Amino acid sequence: MKQDLEKIKDKIEKLRGEIEYHNRRYYIDAMPEISDYEYDLLMKDLIELEEKYPSLKTPDSPTQRVGGAPLDEFKTVIHKKQMLSLDNTYSPDELIEFDNRIKKITEKVTYVAELKIDGVAVALHYENFILKTGATRGDGIKGDDITQNIKTIRTVPLKIKTNEKKFSDIEVRGEVYLSKKQLDIINQERESKGEPLFANTRNAAAGSLRLLDPKEVSKRKLNVFVYSFEDAVKYGIKTQFEALKILEKLGFAVNPNVKLCEKIEEVIEFCNEWEKKRNDLPYSIDGMVIKVNEFEKQEILGVTSKSPRWAISYKFKAEQAKTKLNNILVQVGRQGTLTPVAELEPVKLAGTIVKRATLHNQEEIERKDIRIGDWVIIEKAGEIIPEVIRSLKEERTGNEKIFKMPDKCPVCGSDVTKDEGGVIIRCDNLQCRAQLEGRILHFAERDAMNIEGLGKALVHQLVEKRMVDDYGDIYFLDIFKLASLERMGQKSSENLLNQIKESKKRDLDNLIYALGIRNVGKHTAEILVDNFSSLYDLMKAKKEDLLKIKEIGDIVANSIIDFFKRKDTEKVIEKLKKAGVNFNKSKSKIIKNILGGKVFIFTGELKNYSRQEAANIVKSSGGRVVSAISKNIDFVVVGENPGSKYEKAKKLNLKIIDEQEFLNLIKKS
Ligand SMILES: [Zn+2]
Repeated sequence: MKQDLEKIKDKIEKLRGEIEYHNRRYYIDAMPEISDYEYDLLMKDLIELEEKYPSLKTPDSPTQRVGGAPLDEFKTVIHKKQMLSLDNTYSPDELIEFDNRIKKITEKVTYVAELKIDGVAVALHYENFILKTGATRGDGIKGDDITQNIKTIRTVPLKIKTNEKKFSDIEVRGEVYLSKKQLDIINQERESKGEPLFANTRNAAAGSLRLLDPKEVSKRKLNVFVYSFEDAVKYGIKTQFEALKILEKLGFAVNPNVKLCEKIEEVIEFCNEWEKKRNDLPYSIDGMVIKVNEFEKQEILGVTSKSPRWAISYKFKAEQAKTKLNNILVQVGRQGTLTPVAELEPVKLAGTIVKRATLHNQEEIERKDIRIGDWVIIEKAGEIIPEVIRSLKEERTGNEKIFKMPDKCPVCGSDVTKDEGGVIIRCDNLQCRAQLEGRILHFAERDAMNIEGLGKALVHQLVEKRMVDDYGDIYFLDIFKLASLERMGQKSSENLLNQIKESKKRDLDNLIYALGIRNVGKHTAEILVDNFSSLYDLMKAKKEDLLKIKEIGDIVANSIIDFFKRKDTEKVIEKLKKAGVNFNKSKSKIIKNILGGKVFIFTGELKNYSRQEAANIVKSSGGRVVSAISKNIDFVVVGENPGSKYEKAKKLNLKIIDEQEFLNLIKKS
């Protein structure tokens, strides 16, 4: 038996070794040897064995990278040593000044020049060789505890690769980043879902690290380069260059493009070299970082309140190109926003051929005085979408044309509206085909009408085949229409029709939210239902009626009034009515209004209830639960180990109660 366990242990270790090897091939060498599918199979085998023999589980097993339930919020971490930011320089002259400043204080320094990876700074803390915490930089003093997310990054060692006791407890710092290729993949997916695209790899990395579900983070395939060994002197390390070598030996991913320079001229040369070569890298860099190599000298130079005197960053110039602007097109996004896009004479910029560039909005076009037919300068500053910077007025022939944003939607022809600021122009038409898929998916959302079977692929087909003109039409689909669609059989069509039928009974707040009125989210829908008992009441409401309601301001009131005034709304409401969709507030909501619309937020763990149970109690008593802190909250319920919401609540002077007080409140009411 014991021998068996030994054999299994061997097998587990072999699997782990194999998985780590493939992680390195994929993430560090960028030369994968096996497919994602084969990789998943190895992982699956390991998970199964570890589940069967829990005694053989270890904290450094690759399976630890995929576990973990979604978080409700991040806890706050206080950095042991402040995470400083660097001062920027933009020219070789400024680098020479930096060198002069240093020479005034100390002699005989050498420099280490490193690539400045365009990502997100993180601190990794190891205890007893095991990764204990991963944190964001935050404001430099306090950051978010993102340990679960950090673990999903396969180049972050879960265990330090050494037995040397002195390295058992260390802190290192580095940059989490995304490869350019991975950004493309993520953006393609976001585009197909109608979500806004990430402008660059840094935004994408930051957005990914902020996700609360580690399983989602894992899919983003983040990567890391470690560049700093905190308190390295304590471990007998004398220079930054040496620290990088040791970090590599300890199993960290260290960027290989580093140079030890005797003189600042060498540094400048290295910077220029990389400014030219930067597009050849599979990841984005936006400059270089130059550090005094000797830790002893760093100590002498010290820090200012915000940044060290011994390091500086050198920012590359954004890459520009000159080309001709042939035309300006107007695109309608899935959220209805109209954006002017420049059609350019194709030109090479930052390693790619650019044919289009964003012009943002009418105001920008006017401010920069950009006309159709102009010669323009375009720029790409780490951004994936190039931008038109300026027009070359001296090259005008007189044939250039002034552009004006249309007042009708180019897709559906209906009148467009301007937002409060007058900058963003939108098409709000419920029947606009550019936005129809998004509107129907929203209508079917769980918090809206909750029609689970109405997924992305199906809605796409319904819109494509013109089976629906708006979300009202889904109530008039029949089995023949549905069964004619791809991947829809008799049975699944019947199921979907049942779900659609069932959705007619949803509560009034679900319906109001589902309508997709601008600025009316689920929370506002709930507030409205506290004040109106049917959809007709809401439709009849005047602006002053709406403004009387706490939490409803000018913007929301206008959105509601405008929405119900429109012809396309009238059409949809008529269809919903004909289909028999419930327009009335349910009786249970009228009776159980004990907490009278009071707003709650929870932070920390409760002893007696799960978060979901507590939320249900509040809801069933007529209260509401929100997840983001704001001054409109009536009660902040604080359990064990509260997160950042607690701090924010104190700052806002909100009413804070503990679990017992919460229970009393529920009983009393
Ligand atoms: Zn439209």
